[in-house]
Amino acid sequence: MADGGASSPLVEENIRRLVEIDAPLTIRLTFSPIDDIERIIRYFGKLGVKSLHLEPLFPYGRNYEKVEFGADSANEIFAPRGDEFVANFLRALDVGREYGMKIYNGHLLHFTGGIRYFCGAASGRAALVTHDGHLTACLEVVDAESPNAEMFLVGRWDAASCRFTVEEKKLDRFRLRHADALRSCQACYARYHCAGGCAVKAVRSGKGLDGRDAAYCSFTRHVVPVLVRRIAAASGV
Ligand code: SF4
Repeated sequence: MADGGASSPLVEENIRRLVEIDAPLTIRLTFSPIDDIERIIRYFGKLGVKSLHLEPLFPYGRNYEKVEFGADSANEIFAPRGDEFVANFLRALDVGREYGMKIYNGHLLHFTGGIRYFCGAASGRAALVTHDGHLTACLEVVDAESPNAEMFLVGRWDAASCRFTVEEKKLDRFRLRHADALRSCQACYARYHCAGGCAVKAVRSGKGLDGRDAAYCSFTRHVVPVLVRRIAAASGV
């Protein structure tokens, strides 16, 4: 809190109140390999939370020159190794079921519908306005000073005409980042769940816009076969 006090009692009180009045409530949980996922899920389960959106933490940003996996990383917070993360993820599903909790995750959502692009922004179908008047194709490129701004800023506000000007060629470039078009993903069984992962993360890891998001790739390639087997077993296939 601004006065230095703890915020968690207030957050917990709000959760209890929302559960009590049966308000639509989903907890968004991003967890790292060092978190105790079972303990976290049980905490929310005991509060009566029935819906939880679970995603892995992939550390990127100014502090991370390169993506490193596993506990050997020099960073305090590191990317999960795919196999370790899958074990935690499956544990989360099992514990959540004990509390009648629905667990959402990008991969689970894409299982039935499939995707062609990892996100709306990078497919040239969505853009956000930044504080300095640009249109950005990525939530992680927040202004003209951000790394990779040249690639991800796709337009800007023109005060004279009171309109946004859009750089169509940049949007066209993003549209090429399609699951079937990415050379490193074309033959991958999981391409319609993943579509190469996050574009900006691929760029920041030095692989370029047509490269793979390595952390997401590792997770996807481990989790998809396991989920397929689970769905098949639950369906009696
Ligand atoms: S799992 Fe890896 S190879 Fe497959 S689509 Fe995703 S990023 Fe590409």
